[in-house]
Amino acid sequence: MEKKNDKLTVKYGLVWDKLSKKERDEAMKTGEDYKKFIDAGKTERLCVRELVRRAEAEGFKNLDSVKKLKPGDKVYSVNRGKSAVLAVIGKEPVKAGVSIVGSHIDSPRIDLKQNPLYEEGGMALLKTHYYGGIRKYQWVARPLALYGVVILADGKAVEIAIGDEPGDPVFYITDLLPHLAADQSKKTLNEGIAGEALNAIIGTLPEGKEEDKDRFKQAILQLLNDKYGMVEEDFVSAELELVPAGAARDVGLDRGSIAAYGHDDRVCAYTSMKALFESKPAAKTAIALFVDKEEVSSQGNTSMNSRNFANTVGRMIELQEGTCTGFDIDRALALSALLSSDVAAAFDPNYPSVSETRNNAYLGKGVTIVKYTGSRGKSGSNDANAEFVGEVRRVLNAAGVVWQTSELGKVDQGGGGTIAYILANCDMDVLDIGVPVLAMHAPFELVSKADVYMTYKAYKAFYESR
Ligand code: MN
Ligand code: MN
Repeated sequence: MEKKNDKLTVKYGLVWDKLSKKERDEAMKTGEDYKKFIDAGKTERLCVRELVRRAEAEGFKNLDSVKKLKPGDKVYSVNRGKSAVLAVIGKEPVKAGVSIVGSHIDSPRIDLKQNPLYEEGGMALLKTHYYGGIRKYQWVARPLALYGVVILADGKAVEIAIGDEPGDPVFYITDLLPHLAADQSKKTLNEGIAGEALNAIIGTLPEGKEEDKDRFKQAILQLLNDKYGMVEEDFVSAELELVPAGAARDVGLDRGSIAAYGHDDRVCAYTSMKALFESKPAAKTAIALFVDKEEVSSQGNTSMNSRNFANTVGRMIELQEGTCTGFDIDRALALSALLSSDVAAAFDPNYPSVSETRNNAYLGKGVTIVKYTGSRGKSGSNDANAEFVGEVRRVLNAAGVVWQTSELGKVDQGGGGTIAYILANCDMDVLDIGVPVLAMHAPFELVSKADVYMTYKAYKAFYESR
């Protein structure tokens, strides 16, 4: 029986308890589709390709090929193959502001250096420079796949994808055996594996005769030349990334969660894409935004700090109005609203001491609202306006979305950021809201299927509310 006080107390409950049988099935089905999405997009370039493939199947047209924009039109725009915008044109003009759900599609990984190939100790190896906040000890002694693009001397681009197809070889970074790790074991986790020790084995078969030089390196260069037409100098104009090999997997006998590489932040990319595809037409133009370089502070022409998004909004205004000034773009951005769609840290029962349990996200309790991120006194954070949080809260409650609220661990324990502040600096209402994840930035991260489903529902409700 309901007590009088029940109306006064907030209860953040489990998604599974609140779903109908039909919705449970829907959540499990969404998990299956999400696994396909994340396996198809292990790098930012491949993720863009998968987004465009799915968008075209939904009837989206390249913005470059469009002469006019009218309500209901579906368009996409790709920036340098590494970031993308999907838009469904609303009844109101774009210049009156848009609704955005923005995620990032780059994930922590290990990039090759520009002069990577060398040999030592009877093997050919690749020098690397890690990308984003990895814990280096997690990336050794495990299978790695190599993806990317190489621009050859004549300008031709060749794609490389090795390690995820059945029968593919993988790449491998060694760690010390425990028998000889006496010195290493005394170091901190952070120092135990040095950045310059993250050298990946690419070959162990020599070429030529005993007296020849660089026999292991030569053998690899020959293989690369046979298969891709590459020479060593071509590494300079390449973007090659080592990522964990292997597909997304269900976790647990009940299959309630998914482990995969790159949940941060492709789980938010997936849920915003699905929400955009399935939303009813709205007054405002609905945009799903997918940016690159978030894991390295959002700098560069494919990042959130690039003018590319503003230019894309400007092109849409121009297609509707016949003309567009810089002020038209600024005003459109100021009249817009963004759900900054990024993963949050879930409570980890193995490490309870880093969490403040009353303000931490939990696996399975739904999409989490993060009013502010930052560190050491909210520094560097977008602290969302109470009014906008209120609006989003009303929308989620009206749509029956199961949500929770959190910040990133205990005060002064650490911290982090998202793309939220960048668009907030464009005078836009912005709120961080996304999927709780365990083991964030590990080669294999974990999310709950219930939270993936609720996050999709939250973004859909947001689009449809405006
Ligand atoms: Mn992220
Ligand atoms: Mn991250």
